[in-house]
Amino acid sequence: MHIDDAVFLEDLCPKFRLRQWRKSIHKFTGKSCIYCGKPSESIDHVLPRSQGGLSTTENCVPACLSCNGDKSDENALYWYRKQKFYDPRRAMAIRAWLDGDLRLALRLLQWASPKYKVNNANYEEDKPGYKAA
Ligand SMILES: [Zn+2]
Repeated sequence: MHIDDAVFLEDLCPKFRLRQWRKSIHKFTGKSCIYCGKPSESIDHVLPRSQGGLSTTENCVPACLSCNGDKSDENALYWYRKQKFYDPRRAMAIRAWLDGDLRLALRLLQWASPKYKVNNANYEEDKPGYKAA
């Protein structure tokens, strides 16, 4: 990460800041949808903008287009509970994300999906105990 460059460019160009922010959201989950684990192609507002949801990291999660479109303006946790791919660990992760505890959220996501690529410098990686066949 070139933090110094980013700060410099942000000052020059607010759009760059927005793009960086969107990128960082996807980066947290290794570009996986927080709901289903598929590649995230969009940012989903957990509390929809139509209901006063803000574009903050706490309210914005990486989501695939299918989940984002299907969820629409529904309450995210309520919607998620009805999905076939519902996983209580992911639901907990979403709740932690909303609380602003990304570290816990990523931990829960990793637990839900061991293949998860988590790109958080603060994240302590658990060494997998199994051997490749
Ligand atoms: Zn999805």
